[in-house]
Amino acid sequence: MRNADAWRALRAPFLTGLALSLALMLLPLAALGESGAGEVAALPPVPTPAAEPSAAPSAASSTPPGELDSARTLRVLQQDGTVEAMSMSDYLWRVVAAEMPATFEGEALRSQAVCARTYSLWKMQAKSHEADGADICADSGCCQAYIAPENAAQRWEENAEAYTQKISGAVADTDGQVLTYGGSPIQAVFFSSADGQTADAAEVWGRSLPYLVPVDSPEGEEVPNYHSTVTLTAEEVKSLAAGAGLGCDLSGEPSAWFANLTRTASGRVDSVELGGVSLSGGAARSLFSLRSASFDISLADGAFTFSVTGYGHGVGLSQYGANAMAKAGSGWREILAHYYTGAELQTYG
Ligand SMILES: [Zn+2]
Repeated sequence: MRNADAWRALRAPFLTGLALSLALMLLPLAALGESGAGEVAALPPVPTPAAEPSAAPSAASSTPPGELDSARTLRVLQQDGTVEAMSMSDYLWRVVAAEMPATFEGEALRSQAVCARTYSLWKMQAKSHEADGADICADSGCCQAYIAPENAAQRWEENAEAYTQKISGAVADTDGQVLTYGGSPIQAVFFSSADGQTADAAEVWGRSLPYLVPVDSPEGEEVPNYHSTVTLTAEEVKSLAAGAGLGCDLSGEPSAWFANLTRTASGRVDSVELGGVSLSGGAARSLFSLRSASFDISLADGAFTFSVTGYGHGVGLSQYGANAMAKAGSGWREILAHYYTGAELQTYG
């Protein structure tokens, strides 16, 4: 989910600060994406695309797809520019397989399926791909990550059959379930892992949403690369700042370059000054290619080290947090209720 189209439809205030955060927020890490999601819109009715479903076989090999998802057709703009019509159940299989490791707990995968369905509904209503004759696209930089079953099977090797069925089950078990707030589908954004707490949407995008507020997130040391570092020489920092045209004054000693670091309520960097120029945490994250805005800065031997925890923008559902909750016995409904405060599940139909 790596880029702009999904966000272009959002209203201007929500775009504040997005430009600098998008590049990292939407990193092309196929297995662990961070969803863009749409603006809240009226839920029903969902348009029925005119195109006929393709004859492609269902991704489900043994778990029958749910009735509601089977009855709904999406036109998916493929990377090669063609438009393929398929059922919601087939589409969701391809998204969940691309967005979350198949090794995750079934309840985490079910949570992901509901997020993907909710986002898809919003996207259909937003009609941002109308000119393409499509409802949604397979470009992770625009809509949601997407992988064809044959490519997923290749990736999964000897586990292909088991994982295929596991994901089919996650989609079918949540058939037709959509997260809503005030009767409209929510912006079901998600990310990989948090440093103890999720972020408020306002911290990251400048616009508050009642269901995207900080909550505790239970993932921890078992997350791969949970703690990461980026080390840059003073010259490299200077070069990056110059390249970004920030107008920083870096003529003095490097020890004085970074100043006045402030943090948000959820512990992420809210702002930090570089050479007298204030950067948001998201902007600093993007400029220095950090995995999240939860970081500290230190200077030693002429080089800056950014010590980072977690991965992603931090808003909405944490995938590793969902997996940790699932391991501790939570079901998908509980996981979604935890990460999307006040959101309600509705069945579309
Ligand atoms: Zn798209």
